[in-house]
Order: sequence, then C-alpha cells, then structure tokens
Amino acid sequence: MEKVFEGIVDTEEKIYEDSLRPSYLSDFIGQEHIKKSLSLYIKAASLRGDIIDHVLFYGSPGLGKTTLATIIANESGKGVITTSGAIIQRPADIISTLLGLQEGDVLFIDEIHRLPKIVEEFLYPAMEDFAIDILCNDVDKGGERSATRMPLNKFTLVGATTRAGMISSPLRNRFGIDYHMEFYGVKDLSYIALRSAKILDVGINKPAADFIAKGSRGTPRIVNRIIKRCRDVAQIEGDGLITLNVVKDTFVMLRIDDNGLDAMDRKIMTAILEFHDGGPVGINTLAVTVGEDDETIEAMHEPFLIQQGFLERTPRGRKATKKAERYFSDSK
Ligand code: ADP
Repeated sequence: MEKVFEGIVDTEEKIYEDSLRPSYLSDFIGQEHIKKSLSLYIKAASLRGDIIDHVLFYGSPGLGKTTLATIIANESGKGVITTSGAIIQRPADIISTLLGLQEGDVLFIDEIHRLPKIVEEFLYPAMEDFAIDILCNDVDKGGERSATRMPLNKFTLVGATTRAGMISSPLRNRFGIDYHMEFYGVKDLSYIALRSAKILDVGINKPAADFIAKGSRGTPRIVNRIIKRCRDVAQIEGDGLITLNVVKDTFVMLRIDDNGLDAMDRKIMTAILEFHDGGPVGINTLAVTVGEDDETIEAMHEPFLIQQGFLERTPRGRKATKKAERYFSDSK
C-alpha cells in the first residue's frame, strides 16, 4: 500500500519537505492563534533583549511542529539544532549539543515523550538555570563521584510530541508556552497546495488544489505528498498541469477516497462495524484484526477518524458512530 499517510519521513522526503518549509511566520499558513501569540512573544522577548520561553507543541505528525521550531529561530535571527527523543538514551548523548549551543539558539527535540526519565531529569537544570550537572570522578577524594555544575548559553527548548498523554508533568511544567496544534481546514490546505506547487514550479488550478485539500486529512505533509504524486500523473497523462482529473486519478491510484480515507482507515472501520458489531473493541484486538500495530493506529488513523466523527473512544474501547454506519454502508 502506498504510504501517503504514514508518519515516517526518510532522507529523500526530508530534502523535499525542507524545500517546501516556510521560513518565517508570514509564509506559515493557518494556525492563526499560534502565529499571533508566537509573534507577540518573539517581539516582546527581543524588545527585552531576552530569549523566548521554552515552547511545547502537541499535535499529529505533519502539522508543522518542526517548521514552527525553525521559524522561531529564524524570526529571532538565531540558529536551530534539531534532535529527537528517540535517539537520546543517556545524558551523555546530549551533553555536547547543550554545551555547543550559542546564546539564543533553539534546541528542537522532536518526539520528546520518548526521552528516558534520566535524560528528562538531566534537562531540568538546563531548562531552568541554563546549567548542567556533570558527574566526575574526583581524584583528590580517591575517585569519589561528585557533580560539577557547568553553565550553558541561554537557549530556547522547543519540544514536539504526537502523544500528549505521554509527557511527564514535571517536564510539561517546565515549558512556559504550550500549543495544541489542530488539523487544518480545507481552505488553508488549499493555499498550502497552491504555495507548494508554485515552489515546485508545477501548474495547478484551484479546483485541483481544493480537491487535494479535502483528501489530505487536515495535514500539510499529506498535501505535499499528494502534490508530488499528482505531479507524476500530470506529466504522464497530461501536459504537466495538475487538474481536477489528474487529482482524481491520483486518488484512485493511491486508494484514497474523496474524504481522505485510505485503505487502512476503511479496514479499521469495517473491522469495528462488521467483526465487532460496531464496538466497543479494545485497541489490541483491533490491531490484530486489521494487521497493523496499535501505535500506528493510535497515531496515524484514530485522530483523523475521531475528528471526522466516525470513531469514538470509550472507556471500554473504540466504537463506530452512527455516521460511520451510514458512510460505510453507502460506500459498499
Ligand atoms: P511535524 O514536525 O509536525 O511532523 P513539519 O513541520 O515537518 O511537521 O511539516 C511537514 C511538511 O508540511 C513540511 O514540508 C512543511 O513545509 C509543511 N507545512 C507544515 N505546516 C505548514 C504550514 N502551516 N504552511 C505551509 N506548509 C506547512
């Protein structure tokens, strides 16, 4: 199955994404409340000659968390250093990064919920006092271990997570600013499609952009992935222009329906409706029924199905809604 909706971004896609990444708040489309307050915090900090407080972004993959971290650095005229909670297993893995930060830099930690507790605790003084405690063997005291405090330059930690519930409260409390990123509306996604096509130098018309927007499940990354596939179809089938027909053919090829549901979404919903009588069904049983792992279902499929009103989370498991019953009996 074509993985237009999956969360993993490989190196080739990263280069593609970076070419489309807005650099400043003025290019960043949608999420108006975030843009407005971030712009205010950045200006206020710069007037005080200070840096912006640590920022935490919650939200599904592809909504613009990494982009906003870069924008905070660009708007403040500072650098950004990117890492991920998935690769920092011990304090030693992050010491040189912290010591190398310049005054005002942004340290972006993606998937921050994956940091082990020992690293979280190591980061607390870095976040609060811009200092770290390093354990050394004290030769004068016969090799006894003692902590030495080392100062850091002042920096802004920007954390991103797709799993709001998995951040410990002591860590969460150390962020002065936090944002819950919402899925984008069709109008904003259509602008993003037009903007990306322009940067890629591919022609696209408005009905095509609107159709892509409707099928992109509220997510800019998916808009950009679909545009890439549409560009291929337009080159082979037509004269290179992305038209409504090109988009519709691309959706058939990718097995996406007009509302952005892919084959796995449909499999999940039909499994609940047909194998489990509409639910409730536990996430593990559901994962076995559809042959997908539960984390992927929770991160990639469930938020969109809930947002579309097809799925409900209840204490006893996942349940299909009346809307889902109608939609999936009509689309049979
Ligand atoms: P996340 O870090 O939340 O997974 P990214 O910031 O990497 O998502 O964004 C994924 C892609 O979508 C990038 O190519 C980025 O350029 C694009 N994108 C995200 N948000 C916007 C936006 N508001 N306007 C334009 N493009 C966006």
